[in-house]
Amino acid sequence: MGTDFQALAELCEKLEATSKRTLMVNLVADFLKHLALDEVEPATSMFLGRAFPKWDSRTLEVSWATLSDIIKRLTNVNWKDFADAFSRTGDIGAATKTVFEASKIQRQTMLIEKPLTILEVRRNLEAIAETTGYGSRERKERLLETLLGQTTPLEAKYIIKIMIGEMRTGFHEGLMELAVSKAFNIPHDVVRKASMLTGDIAEVAVIAKAKGKEGILKLEFQIFRPIKPMLAQMAENVNEALKEHGEKTAFEYKLDGARIQIHKSNNEVRIYSRRLTDVTDSLPEVVQLVQEEVKAQKAILEGEVIVIGEDGNPLPFQHLMRRFRRVHNVEKMVKQIPVKLYLFDLIYLNGQSLADDSYIERRKKLEKIAGDILLTKQLIIRKRLEAEGFLREALNEGHEGLMAKRLDSAYTPGVRGKHWFKIKESLEPLDLVIVAAEYGYGRRHGWLSDYYLAARDAESGEFLMVGKTFKGLTDKEIIRMTEHLKELAVRETRGKVVVTPQIVVEVAYNEIQKSPKYRCGMALRFARVTRIRDDKGPEEADTIKRVRKIYEKQFERKAKPQKL
Ligand code: AMP
Repeated sequence: MGTDFQALAELCEKLEATSKRTLMVNLVADFLKHLALDEVEPATSMFLGRAFPKWDSRTLEVSWATLSDIIKRLTNVNWKDFADAFSRTGDIGAATKTVFEASKIQRQTMLIEKPLTILEVRRNLEAIAETTGYGSRERKERLLETLLGQTTPLEAKYIIKIMIGEMRTGFHEGLMELAVSKAFNIPHDVVRKASMLTGDIAEVAVIAKAKGKEGILKLEFQIFRPIKPMLAQMAENVNEALKEHGEKTAFEYKLDGARIQIHKSNNEVRIYSRRLTDVTDSLPEVVQLVQEEVKAQKAILEGEVIVIGEDGNPLPFQHLMRRFRRVHNVEKMVKQIPVKLYLFDLIYLNGQSLADDSYIERRKKLEKIAGDILLTKQLIIRKRLEAEGFLREALNEGHEGLMAKRLDSAYTPGVRGKHWFKIKESLEPLDLVIVAAEYGYGRRHGWLSDYYLAARDAESGEFLMVGKTFKGLTDKEIIRMTEHLKELAVRETRGKVVVTPQIVVEVAYNEIQKSPKYRCGMALRFARVTRIRDDKGPEEADTIKRVRKIYEKQFERKAKPQKL
């Protein structure tokens, strides 16, 4: 028998319709409780928009072009209806449901088919993922067509959402932890910890059902399953960090590179990015270094890789990104852009989690096993002046700033708390003009929430783009901004509204990069609006010349990339 997929889809629909967290948790908990053991993982994964368990390496490899072709063929509707439904809702799944409902053919087939179960949907998705090699595109299409050909419009909506990995019901992992805790009667903190250790709440749910609290308590970190990294909050200055940490803390250089998590089991080494993707193949020299130097049979380590220029100074972050993007010709890239590894944490050692050890203990153990690999430069400091000196030293050497780590703090995966602070020298904010805007997605789909930012070219009088952002404004401000922008609209094409340059906003950012994307050759990284400058007109906005000056200033310490 098995549970119908329709029931899961109906529940998703309820989740989508409410923002009451307790109600959502109760509904899902009740649903999970009534599932058979082998349905628990597939359902939990599906609620979170995953076709497969989190650590399953299988992927569907189905493009939107393929999916939309099949939807077209099955429903036989005018594709404009789909486009209209999409622009109304901003949601591919909902638009699919609309065209399925509009299609008569679909209704007829529905009468003869048996309802799909959750396990059948999973098996179908598996079959699609496992179809590879010659002619696989056609075979995938046939499988998809068979699957979607037997769904109700509502099931189609959620199968599509699961396939593209966008549920948008507002039911995220944190709520799922609460639901699992409630469904299987296990304290929330125990479930949360297990979810942190395994990184997959669906797996925790299965063990909760099969083995209860005892089983959950036995869960541990596992080598080759990346752990969500512990995150840092921004501190204004060293003083704030010292104060928060009780007037004594460990400052470390904050390097401007890429964070990596290294898993080692005997001679096998795998490396994961900050977003937990496997980047082992991009960093062969790091793999070799870890194999040669790390004195531990099993370990999970963290560090930062940076690129050093010929003059010995660190190069900007974008150089490093080329190392991760390139999968071909890695050897050449290793020579062209050699990376340097600095370690800063040890989370697991020879069968034991160190997450509950203090920072100081972890760092001591790390020093012992790191061999000749460098650790991030560190100083335990009590005095503000000394900390400021250390910050200046880091900046002078071309690094980004400092981290401050509380001496007695545990490693808390995925948490951005006050135990780690980052302290950077901030760049001066810019006053920029909004020259165009795009409609947002999901909740923001009716609002112009994504802004094109431009600086003034004092010579030509033109406004030249230097960045784009959807960050910084409150919902209220976005609604007001949408109205204002609509009044200024010049033309609209495919969700992008070009406006007369009138509105000035203050924009903060982390860095100015060289970029071919914009005519002026520069782009702001991590731009966010900090204020709407109602008091300023576009003629008072900052100039391209000023942007270029700040760009240049970044390289007084850092080595400069090729000519702009
Ligand atoms: P955030 O990711 O925003 O919490 O900022 C901290 C980031 O700084 C980490 O993700 C690392 O990539 C980077 N980083 C550079 N140096 C260090 C260090 N010594 N300790 C921890 N993180 C560092």
